[in-house]
Amino acid sequence: MRRRLIAGNWKMNGSRESLAELDGIAAAAGAAPGVDVAICPPFTLIERAAARTPTLPIGAQDCHSAPKGAHTGCVSAGMLAEAGARLVIVGHSERRAAQGETDAQVKAKAEAAIAAGLTAIVCVGETEEQREAGEAEAVVSAQLRGSVPVAGGDVLVVAYEPVWAIGTGRIPSLEDVRVMHLEVRAVLSDLLGADRAEAVRILYGGSMNAANAADLLAVPNVDGGLIGGASLTAAAFVPIIEAAA
Ligand code: PEP
Repeated sequence: MRRRLIAGNWKMNGSRESLAELDGIAAAAGAAPGVDVAICPPFTLIERAAARTPTLPIGAQDCHSAPKGAHTGCVSAGMLAEAGARLVIVGHSERRAAQGETDAQVKAKAEAAIAAGLTAIVCVGETEEQREAGEAEAVVSAQLRGSVPVAGGDVLVVAYEPVWAIGTGRIPSLEDVRVMHLEVRAVLSDLLGADRAEAVRILYGGSMNAANAADLLAVPNVDGGLIGGASLTAAAFVPIIEAAA
C-alpha cells in the first residue's frame, strides 16, 4: 500500500519570512498521519526550513550528479542531505527546457540523490504540441526509460507533469490522467520489475489546487501531487493535504 505524498515546489520563490508558512503546513501534515507531506524551497532556505519544522520533510529542486568537484554554482546531493534535505526533485520540465537537461543527466542526478540517502522525485511530462500530435504516452515512456534509476522502490518517486498544465490553471481530463498514470506504472514495471514498480509513488503535477485535488487524487495510480503555485502559502496548500488525507 503506497502512502500518498503531497510535495510542494516553491521554485525560485520565498524568503526567510515565507518560512512562517511552514508552521501551518507542518500542523496540517501532523493532523494527516497517513499522508507524507514535503516542501522543496530554494537551496538557500533548506537548512532554516529543516530546523524550523523538523517533522516536515524538506527537499531541494535539483542536485548535481557528482559528489563534489569543479562545478561552479552547483550543489551535490550529499550537501543537500547535510543541510537537512530528505528529498530532491530532478528533471523538472523547467530545468529540462531552460538548462537543457537530458534524460541521462536526470538519471545520474536521481542515482546520486538515492546514493546520498535522499528520495528522488523524477519529473516527466509532454508538451502541448506533443499531446496534440498524439505522442504524449510515447514521450513520457521514453523519458522514463532514460531518466529512471534502477533502484526503484520507495526511494523513487515519479511526477507526471504535463508541461502545458504547469502554472496555467489547466489540467488534463481525469481520463487522460488515468491513462497516463497506468502507462507510467507499466513502464516502471518493465524497467524495475513488478514488485519494485508497485512501491514507486506516481504524483500528478500541473495546476493542482484545492478545487481539483480530490478529483485528481481519486484517479487510480495517482499517489499524490507535486504542487507549485498552490504550495507557496499554507492557506492554499493545506486544503490539498486535507484532500489527500
Ligand atoms: C510544478 O512546477 O511542478 C507545478 C506543478 O507547478 P503548478 O502547480 O504551479 O502548476
